[in-house]
Amino acid sequence: MATGWAHEGAVLDQIEDTVTDAVRNARARLPTGEGADHCVECGDEIPAARRRALPGAHTCIACQSARDRRVVHTTLNRRGSKDSQLR
Ligand SMILES: [Zn+2]
Repeated sequence: MATGWAHEGAVLDQIEDTVTDAVRNARARLPTGEGADHCVECGDEIPAARRRALPGAHTCIACQSARDRRVVHTTLNRRGSKDSQLR
């Protein structure tokens, strides 16, 4: 049915937009280019295992976690996390 198709298509469009958004956000957080031997934030050496797992990493795990937390706060605030509501 035509309406069935239209409805399905609309839902798919919405899902696709959501996925595109998520991918864009994830890509923005992914390091690009050459990795660094030492963390750009604290100067600690980045473990070889981390560099292998994440070529292009510029931060150690601790600093990356801190960055990820910041990203979560800025992009997922609309979810109204407990944390943001307490502020
Ligand atoms: Zn660091």
